[in-house]
Amino acid sequence: MDNFLYRDGALYAEDVPIAEIAAEVGTPFYVYSQATLTRHFQLFEEALSGLPHLICYAMKSNSNQAVIKVMGDLGAGMDVVSGGEYRRAKAAGVPGERIVFSGVGKTGDEMRLALEGGIRQFNVESEPELDLLSEIASGMGAVAPITIRVNPDVDAKTHEKIATGKSENKFGIPISRAREVYAQAAKLPGIDVIGIDVHIGSQLVDLEPFEQAYLKVADLTHALRADGHDIRRLDLGGGLGIPYERSNSAPPLPLEYGALIKRTVGDLGCEIEIEPGRLISGNAGLLVSGVIFVKTGEDRDFLILDAAMNDLIRPAMYGAWHDIVPVREPAAGFEHATYDVVGPVCESGDTFAKGRAMAPLAPGDLVAFRSAGAYGAVMSSEYNTRPLIPEVMVNGHQFAVIRARPGFEEIINRDTIPKWL
Ligand SMILES: *Cc1c(COP(=O)(O)O)cnc(C)c1O
Repeated sequence: MDNFLYRDGALYAEDVPIAEIAAEVGTPFYVYSQATLTRHFQLFEEALSGLPHLICYAMKSNSNQAVIKVMGDLGAGMDVVSGGEYRRAKAAGVPGERIVFSGVGKTGDEMRLALEGGIRQFNVESEPELDLLSEIASGMGAVAPITIRVNPDVDAKTHEKIATGKSENKFGIPISRAREVYAQAAKLPGIDVIGIDVHIGSQLVDLEPFEQAYLKVADLTHALRADGHDIRRLDLGGGLGIPYERSNSAPPLPLEYGALIKRTVGDLGCEIEIEPGRLISGNAGLLVSGVIFVKTGEDRDFLILDAAMNDLIRPAMYGAWHDIVPVREPAAGFEHATYDVVGPVCESGDTFAKGRAMAPLAPGDLVAFRSAGAYGAVMSSEYNTRPLIPEVMVNGHQFAVIRARPGFEEIINRDTIPKWL
């Protein structure tokens, strides 16, 4: 469920007509619903009720300051994967005690930043990282709370580019070596071992890989406790998938996921953390675009939009599907047209959909890409010198631009010509 529905033949974001936002900010743009973001967070709260827990929003899915503020005000923690994201979380008012730091390549500067500003825990992914963190923390007279990210070697059955829990992936330490690495960690100065971390991938549409991974984490908890470690926190990662193609997909619900967590690790007396990103922000956002041309090709028609792969790269990068709907609701019983939906960028990869059956459209019409709130704006670029597009947040009847479109002068002035030219 989201808050982008048709009313009297027009698509709305909560109580604001999409066309009204388009008239004010111009296309293309992203629009997010505060009510949907809030509801998704609350679904996880309900799913984990009864367990001591903290939901750490995976900021990399959508890290606009306004989105972080909505999450932070609801009491969410943050999962950050860079010093930049750490700074963003702090800038939006999230206290360090609610920030967990993930990522395979944390630098010494990033560790220092987080230790100075406050941190809930580092999720350590390798032995060299453990050594560097120990050196930096003890040099500062600080103690770094850590979990170690274990790689449980399970197949997440998702797109290869977003699977992270197989032994061939770069993430975490092999679970078979965990006891050895925990023993080493316990001896290091400046390190406080508090728990275990696991994250097996993104856009998982089946609970079975989670179950396999969490059962392995439960076994490991017992083994590490027997070795003398005080395991008191389990970070179970993110990854729950969303229905990109609504007509034929129904991924598991947060409630079912919560029940699985309770069944597999709920009786260990640990505080539970989860790191959902996509499920919170994905269906809370649309990418709205205008039709520039409808071009009749030899064997197909092209719908040429003003949005392109630089604005939303998921179709080009992962072959991802996004439902694309007209902003003006088509009349009942319309005869559909079939389009290749493309952007203006000079690459054939700049194709959002092939042979897509949709309502017939004409230049000037608006379309909305659903499920574009996660890994959309954050992965955008200015390729082809197309300015980053605006982001808008809606709350009831009001809306606000939460990131403005940069001017061309600003873009060009970022470059400097060396003085010898
Ligand atoms: C990307 C990522 C997440 C979030 O994944 P989603 O599929 O967006 O829920 C959580 N934890 C870590 C460590 C990640 O890298």
